Amino acid sequence: MFKTLGQGVLDLFYPYGCCACGKKIPPGIFCAGCYARIEPLTVTAVPYLFSAVRYREPIVTAIHRFKYRGEVFLAPYLAEFLIELCRRRKLNERIDCIVPVPLHPTRFRERNFNQSELLGCEIAACFSLPVLNQLLIRCRNTPSQTGLSGKERRANVAGAFQVRKDVILKGRRCLLVDDVLTTGATLSACRNRLLASGAEEVYGLTLARD
Ligand SMILES: [Zn+2]
Repeated sequence: MFKTLGQGVLDLFYPYGCCACGKKIPPGIFCAGCYARIEPLTVTAVPYLFSAVRYREPIVTAIHRFKYRGEVFLAPYLAEFLIELCRRRKLNERIDCIVPVPLHPTRFRERNFNQSELLGCEIAACFSLPVLNQLLIRCRNTPSQTGLSGKERRANVAGAFQVRKDVILKGRRCLLVDDVLTTGATLSACRNRLLASGAEEVYGLTLARD
């Protein structure tokens, strides 16, 4: 089908589409209608775990495009939700480094990027904090967590992470960053590892919570 001249000119100036519905928008991630559907989270169930928004549309689509379709240009837009939450809860004043939840090396080779690292780097750049990217090692390629109960998830990730021995963590205050929180099993496993290795305080931050 041919586009109208008007649509063609619009495409030229605004080659952007809303990440969720495809509607033409100025540079950004969501159209106003989709943006209005985002459900921000205000309360945290666990005092040291923070999530910015509920894992519902249009965030689900955005995360899928970012993570599984490799649309890494979405990272700064998605990180905005995390940065805003950091500011609101003054998390940036309580930490001195960012620790992305790592992927297993096999998964990393398949995907070519770690979505948590990309989000973490955006937060780090905003608050001038270091990213301790090689600190946690995912030593077991845990099967997908989808469809597992909380107890099964905890068993699934127990012992999946290690901390590099040559990094001194004593006294450090870390912010763990991940894309989605489901039961918190992954973040808790990482947090316990960092605390056991001498970290003074560890918070967990995710973009969305299921
Ligand atoms: Zn939209």
